[in-house]
Amino acid sequence: MAESNNISLVKKLYSEKRIERNEWNRILTSLNDDERNFLHSFAADITRNSFGRGIYIRGLIEISSYCRNNCYYCGLRCSNSQAQRYRLTKEEILDCCAQGASMGFNTFVLQGGEDPMQGREWLVDVIEAIRLHHPDKAITLSVGEKDADTYRAFRMAGADRYLLRHETRNDAHYNTLHPESMNGKNRRDCLRTLKSIGFQTGSGMMIGSPGQTIEHIIDDIEFLDELQPEMIGIGPFIPASGTPFANEPAGSIDRTLLLISLLRLRHPKALIPATTALATLAPDGRLRAIEAGANVVMPNLSPSDVRRKYSIYDNKAHSGSESATQTEILKKELNAIGYHIDYGRGDYKK
Ligand code: SAH
Ligand code: SF4
Repeated sequence: MAESNNISLVKKLYSEKRIERNEWNRILTSLNDDERNFLHSFAADITRNSFGRGIYIRGLIEISSYCRNNCYYCGLRCSNSQAQRYRLTKEEILDCCAQGASMGFNTFVLQGGEDPMQGREWLVDVIEAIRLHHPDKAITLSVGEKDADTYRAFRMAGADRYLLRHETRNDAHYNTLHPESMNGKNRRDCLRTLKSIGFQTGSGMMIGSPGQTIEHIIDDIEFLDELQPEMIGIGPFIPASGTPFANEPAGSIDRTLLLISLLRLRHPKALIPATTALATLAPDGRLRAIEAGANVVMPNLSPSDVRRKYSIYDNKAHSGSESATQTEILKKELNAIGYHIDYGRGDYKK
């Protein structure tokens, strides 16, 4: 049977360095169900070629729900008076790491709002303490925009990786999602700095953020082509109460899965998580992401009493297979689709 034009185009996305914008547009808007299924299984094949059937796990520790920023989409924004605030102490973070280590985790991800009380010195001290207790584990940070000296200090203290989504490459769109005090160029500069310092660097964007168009998504794809991040995080936008976007619709699961597959084609070795946001919107969201080309999951290692308070968006999943203490559930779910947990550090390999 003759191959459809769209299937030829999917193959071309994988094999060619540059694809025209009109071709991206076609792929993003006109795949039928069969072509979509072909794309997902092609992307999953590429993922298995790179990583086998192992899915890396990272223990996520949400270190603070205070944030000085005011991103319009995020439940932790500083002017959300409904948000419940907490910050973990160094000792609490070390306890989370010890618990994670005892369960076999080899990567800890410290994520939080931009909390002025958790400044450079404090974080350097925490990173050094984790490094001392867990010399072989990978330490990933996701604590927002800092100056180059601060990023360097984090790296020197022993941090290996940094997650900072660019959110949207289109500046006009960026400015509708953030107040004037923030700008997209600064965020992209941070990403380039992180890469130049030697961090394995993660970027990415929300799918379906208010005002996002197909052209914006093509800008994002082109930016990721240019940046060549080691990790790519994409998840659907989910409305958060107490924010200007509380009543906006959530992003589409199907479109998120489509982007996971397309980015897998462009970045065969990238570490791509099946995000909590997908798991929040659909019970099988995480497994569908793996079947579309994701190869990382990040179960929650935060103390259980604070998980509800780290409310970036409403109804965020944090129990069952989202919880680091319940890796048995995760194991079963992965086994059922022919995968298993890979407990390795899961560094980026060229
Ligand atoms: N403060 C840090 C890390 C915490 S926020 C930072 O901003 O980088 C981590 C990510 O959560 C953000 O990059 C954003 O892409 C995502 N996020 C925030 N609000 C969201 C929402 N309402 N729906 C889906 N994802 C959201
Ligand atoms: Fe703060 Fe990050 Fe939320 Fe923006 S997305 S308000 S920087 S926690």
